[in-house]
Amino acid sequence: MQEEVVKSEKMKIVSDMAASVAHEIRNPLTTVRGFIQLFGAQNLEEKKKILYQRICLEELDRAQLIITDYLSLAKPDPEIIEKINIKDEISYMSNVLLTYANYNHIEINEIVSENDDLFIIGDRYKFRQALINIGKNAIEAMDNKGVLEIKVIKINHHVEIIISDTGVGMTADQIKRLGTPYYSTKEKGTGLGTMVSFGIIKKMNGKIDIKSEVGKGTQYTLIFTEAQSNKLIQNS
Ligand code: ADP
Ligand code: MG
Repeated sequence: MQEEVVKSEKMKIVSDMAASVAHEIRNPLTTVRGFIQLFGAQNLEEKKKILYQRICLEELDRAQLIITDYLSLAKPDPEIIEKINIKDEISYMSNVLLTYANYNHIEINEIVSENDDLFIIGDRYKFRQALINIGKNAIEAMDNKGVLEIKVIKINHHVEIIISDTGVGMTADQIKRLGTPYYSTKEKGTGLGTMVSFGIIKKMNGKIDIKSEVGKGTQYTLIFTEAQSNKLIQNS
């Protein structure tokens, strides 16, 4: 009985989310459609062509980012548990975020000091999702200038991933609300990014530590147990 309640609650959240994704994707698509129609006009000035093209590309990028926010929800359980190479995932993360960062004049600074590869256990695709959502928020917290730093360090048998920005920062109350569904301070926010990320990290038995100062920036530290590179893993 209890299980069924949880299941129907889950279904409700998923269908709410699906509705909100559909709604959010429809807006940029409608805009793009309109501008493609305008493109068909005769004797269109070169200047307008460039403007229309820019708007279309921006709107499509926005649609893509919305999809990115929800990516993991679409991935079916059960998860694929495997050994994840942290270095690979950090460079994947900064590659995905690069266009977005450039567009917002944000510099990405990657610091992975350890010579040896570092591994943790989890579902690679979900882990990517978690990192991208946190990185995306960091970029959005910075108003057209700043640095997103992604640092990896090893402390004893733990791996720490430190993601920091030089953005607007958060108050203690705002930090408390992080990870709760639909909490967003953004005009076009979904309020689901951190909820999805935190869920994934907790499932990997990871810890999340957040430090933030209003006007200065925010630092997320994700702490995971290091996996031995030669150890076999079993699917749970
Ligand atoms: P969204 O990004 O759609 O608003 P999220 O769940 O990803 O939803 O984030 C929720 C809120 O948490 C954001 O609206 C923002 O106010 C705050 N937040 C998250 N990360 C940061 C950060 N790095 N700096 C400042 N505020 C942040
Ligand atoms: Mg977000």
